Amino acid sequence: MPQKTKQTPMMEQYLGIKANYPDAFLFYRLGDFYELFNEDAVKASQLLEVTLTSRNRNADEPIPMCGVPYHAAKGYIDNLIEKGYKVAICEQVEDPKTAKGMVKREVVQLITPGTAMDTKSMDAKTNNYLAALMSTETDGYYLAYADLSTGELKTTKLNSIESVMSELMSLKTKEVVFKEAMEIELQAKLKTTLGIMVSTQEEMVESAEFSYLTDEIENSESINVVKLLLSYLYVTQKRNLGHLQKVEVYSPANYLKMDHYSKRNLELVSSLRTGQKKGTLLWLLDETKTAMGGRLLKQWIDRPLIQEKQISMRQNIVESLINHFFERTDLNEALTRVYDLERLAGRVAFGNVNGRDLIQLQASLRQIPQLIEVIQLMNKGEWDQFITELDQVPEVVELIDLAVDEDAPLSIKDGGIIKDGFNEKLDTYRDAMRNGKKWIAQLEAEEKAATGIKNLKIGYNRIFGYYIEITKANLVNLPEGRYERKQTLANAERFITPALKEKEILILEAEEKSMLLEYTLFTEVRETIKQYIERLQKLAKTVAAIDVLQSFATVSEKYHYTRPVMAANSQEIDLIEGRHPVVEKVLGQQTYVPNSVEMNRENEILLITGPNMSGKSTYMRQLALTVIMAQMGCFVPADKALIPIFDQIFTRIGAADDLIAGQSTFMVEMMEANEALRYASKNSLILFDEIGRGTATYDGMALAEAIIEYIHEKVHAKTLFSTHYHELTLLDERLPRLKNVHVGAVEEEGELVFLHKMLPGPADKSYGIQVAKLAGLPDELLSRATVILEELEQKEEIVLNHIGQIDPISEVQIPSKISQKEKNKAMDDGQLSLFGLLEGSESEVVKAV
Ligand code: ADP
Repeated sequence: MPQKTKQTPMMEQYLGIKANYPDAFLFYRLGDFYELFNEDAVKASQLLEVTLTSRNRNADEPIPMCGVPYHAAKGYIDNLIEKGYKVAICEQVEDPKTAKGMVKREVVQLITPGTAMDTKSMDAKTNNYLAALMSTETDGYYLAYADLSTGELKTTKLNSIESVMSELMSLKTKEVVFKEAMEIELQAKLKTTLGIMVSTQEEMVESAEFSYLTDEIENSESINVVKLLLSYLYVTQKRNLGHLQKVEVYSPANYLKMDHYSKRNLELVSSLRTGQKKGTLLWLLDETKTAMGGRLLKQWIDRPLIQEKQISMRQNIVESLINHFFERTDLNEALTRVYDLERLAGRVAFGNVNGRDLIQLQASLRQIPQLIEVIQLMNKGEWDQFITELDQVPEVVELIDLAVDEDAPLSIKDGGIIKDGFNEKLDTYRDAMRNGKKWIAQLEAEEKAATGIKNLKIGYNRIFGYYIEITKANLVNLPEGRYERKQTLANAERFITPALKEKEILILEAEEKSMLLEYTLFTEVRETIKQYIERLQKLAKTVAAIDVLQSFATVSEKYHYTRPVMAANSQEIDLIEGRHPVVEKVLGQQTYVPNSVEMNRENEILLITGPNMSGKSTYMRQLALTVIMAQMGCFVPADKALIPIFDQIFTRIGAADDLIAGQSTFMVEMMEANEALRYASKNSLILFDEIGRGTATYDGMALAEAIIEYIHEKVHAKTLFSTHYHELTLLDERLPRLKNVHVGAVEEEGELVFLHKMLPGPADKSYGIQVAKLAGLPDELLSRATVILEELEQKEEIVLNHIGQIDPISEVQIPSKISQKEKNKAMDDGQLSLFGLLEGSESEVVKAV
């Protein structure tokens, strides 16, 4: 709405600035407060629960306003960022004392969800990535992303929307940058289905820094998306981006590929039920001592290796660590004392580092010789590279040692940061301050003696400066005219003398000058350290890797894991007495029943049957997690393990709800199956848990059978397929590379007992009713189900006749009644002919047990 009344100069300035930041809350600095006006104020007062007032309250159109104190602003800003908003920080950019007219103000930083650093909810072991996307000439995308706090900068090319979504979800990106109004459809999809903030960047900034960051990819196609990302960072952060690391180009093809569904289903970093870390592979493997190690572990879980050599390098170090218990203990102790080097380096570059941070940086660097020493004790060649990479950056240690006080305060403007002896000028100021204070102490003693007033004292406050205080009772003893009266209190009088004031000026001046000088010196120290950022970042990476490897060693030893033999291209799995690492950790080693997995070129598919809750899905996940751990370089939960190097893992497990487009479970199931069938190779691992159950029994079963045949004939991937369709177990007669296994269960005195043990051959029964009994269903209902089951089993032969032939599915006789709802659905799906055959069947049970 246009403002009718004439604006004050301040509001004019405000509105001018606000116009450039329509989608951000503008925090407008006014004295000791940041003020928000108009709609910003109305909305922010609700979100932040601060009082809404107004400016010009008595005018015709008062301006809504709310404010937050400058010193407490961070909490409010973080709060808005965490709620998914942007905040523009507008500061006074000239000294109000010397300004003519309105003090000039400018936005000095635009904080957004993707560029925020250390907000309250941000965990030290989690990255905060900002991404940028651009489409390629064909149907793929270029992706770039950066973590502003650590300086990580990466780019890659992805070949479909699905892989873009999958990558963004794995990265947990909160914000994606696009160029102007491109890819509108994708933008909308990211916003609505993934809840990601979409930002646009029109102008491509050219900066000298960028060429340094991007020189390695200057001519690659990814260069533009990286520059888009950097432009956005530059425009929003408005400062040097010197701490960003040289861009790293990676290709998903160089790592074990898993889509986001699989990562979610396998609960690698967040639990399906709670979304938390607890109960995940990350939770199991995380014995890291540093924040950098914690973040790197997550990245390694996201991208297990596929190169035999790299895997064995990691394994060698893990083995070396396991074999050296005492050295590992020393190493861990040193690591515990290493702070977040990566983020500290980032703060140095970003200009928001304080004295305490530098002390932490120094303390961390001081651990490096200790690390080298312990590593040398273990080294038989496997650590060589790490030893050369462990650079203490002694220049930085020395500088901080000379310059920064160990008890430096949080603030960098109030002095007390720089050590005595670092700067001569500062020392003279400090001498003046100290001498002045000594002089005052002396004066106090002298005046006491001269007046005979024992409780005469010299005090100081900010308003009156130094004063001599004498209690009312003692005033009679004070010679008239000795001091100049300054202030009267209830039971004392305060006085000054010209000599006291003279000294006061000297002391205060020295104090003020020394604070200013300290600030300048501190920024100089910071700038000097900036030159070492690349070395600090390299060191941080090395320390992080050592930390993750010690974490592997610690976990492997704690839970008695073995070093797997990786046999690239052998296509042979020989896992003896394997365990699901997370379930085992939860249940305890005594309770967990180990199971072996044997597969090879003659045996590519395991068809798994067994009652619900017996352990089918645990067995499947066990294999996938073992493969992932092995390819990360960790030891694995088994007595013995021979594992081929897999290129991809596909899963269809559980009823994961669909995040991407809100499709029905069955649709998601088919989409996931489709991914696997299209892209899996003979070096892939497929886990299909009860595929087909999302639709009516018989088309589900038909699809399941066709999928198995397809994998058997065309894909040759190692496949674990669990099913409740017992009819499918007959497939082993016809498919030579398929083997039946089942999870054992026995009935003891009418009670079902799970053995959790994999046994050869198909399960003889489903035990569905027994499981229902375990779940506590009414006895009456259970008896009725038993009767129905008997009826059905008599008719089962009709169905079994089908398996083993390639009969069209429409000829199958189905002994169950289909509900009207399913019929309607079938009509919609064009499958009415199939269900037409079902009319008149007697049973009430629709689903196969
Ligand atoms: P299914 O897929 O057959 O329904 P799950 O694999 O989900 O069964 O296993 C159900 C529960 O059984 C698990 O949560 C776990 O507590 C237990 N379980 C599974 N496998 C084992 C095992 N090998 N040893 C001990 N307990 C197991």
